[in-house]
Amino acid sequence: MTDPRVLIVGGGIAGLGAAHALRAKGIRADVFERNPRPEAGGTGIYLPANAVRALTTLGFGAEIRAAGHEIRQIRMLDHRGRPLIELPIDAVWGGIAPSVAVEHAELRRILRGGIDVLTKSFVSDDAAPYDLVVGADGIRSAVREWVFPDAAAPRPVGEVAWRFVTDGYPVEHLWCTWQGHGRTFLAVSLGAGRVYCYADLTTAAAAPSADWRTLFAEFPEPVQALLAGATDVHHGTIEEVFLDEVHRGKTVLIGDAAHAYSPNMAQGAALALEDALVLAGTVDDLDGYARRRVARARWVRGQTRRRDRARHLPPLLRDTVLRTIGPRLFKAAFRPLLDPP
Ligand SMILES: Cc1cc2nc3c(=O)[nH]c(=O)nc-3n(C[C@H](O)[C@H](O)[C@H](O)COP(=O)(O)OP(=O)(O)OC[C@H]3O[C@@H](n4cnc5c(N)ncnc54)[C@H](O)[C@@H]3O)c2cc1C
Repeated sequence: MTDPRVLIVGGGIAGLGAAHALRAKGIRADVFERNPRPEAGGTGIYLPANAVRALTTLGFGAEIRAAGHEIRQIRMLDHRGRPLIELPIDAVWGGIAPSVAVEHAELRRILRGGIDVLTKSFVSDDAAPYDLVVGADGIRSAVREWVFPDAAAPRPVGEVAWRFVTDGYPVEHLWCTWQGHGRTFLAVSLGAGRVYCYADLTTAAAAPSADWRTLFAEFPEPVQALLAGATDVHHGTIEEVFLDEVHRGKTVLIGDAAHAYSPNMAQGAALALEDALVLAGTVDDLDGYARRRVARARWVRGQTRRRDRARHLPPLLRDTVLRTIGPRLFKAAFRPLLDPP
């Protein structure tokens, strides 16, 4: 295609990433975003090394390092605080890039730089003048519903989660989880005493209405102090989306519109940014785009589901597995993602 007219629906991580990646190839795109203030609110986000590598390729390496906080160590503890896994981050990612935790609003601010975004909710008539329509409109994608009406609706994975950012956590450079029975608490340092926390519970029901903090009452300090400091808590049901086919006619899906999983691998932003980069290089070969990206997304889905299944193991068995072969399993889950997308 010479000088294609491109519409990107969604100004999130995937959509803004695609706008930058296409522009670097000399292709200008219109970006529709329905939320007039998408930067507002949000909590934190952990960006493993392949996400930071993609941001660096997009030209944001220095900015993300400055805005975020480098994570150097992975620690998994049981619900009493006893060690299960301890790993330097470079043992997982082989030094391909730093891994970083950042406030969500900062990531959006960085990606928004230099991109004109039109505040508009997409309807199918909008697609007519364009040669390429990129559905980057998230897990409840309107583009997916319109072009892939046969695709399965988002499927609840049987987990609910609470997320918040708080202060008073002096630990630096650490990604740390406490593993309870059917529940997990994660604390990721944001630097200068700030911390991004994520708590989840295995349940078939919607988020419990009782005070959710009591679900984590058996967890040790500093979890109790962090829970006590939780304000502006985001909570929701975790859902999964996966499509074998992400390209039809002039439409292609990227980011959560094409693949969204339980966040236990923290690969959402990485996959979205990699999608954006690969798309920009395959505008004339969208089947090639689909082949490359569906394979990667399928790998992440397989690993994510494996981790989700491990939540149902008896705690004694799970803890023994984690203490003995946990580091090896951890590294193997990410190994193929070290390769460039
Ligand atoms: C609890 C939880 C924790 C997570 N933690 C992490 C983590 O630590 N690390 C990580 O990498 N990932 C994490 N993720 C996943 C990550 O947030 C997503 O994968 C990522 O935000 C996907 O980006 P996206 O741009 O595809 O979708 P979104 O961020 O959902 O962006 C889609 C955009 O499209 C807009 N939009 C929607 N419909 C329309 C329409 N009709 N017209 C115009 N605009 C529209 C929306 O307003 C939105 O701005 C987590 C997810 C959850 C649920």
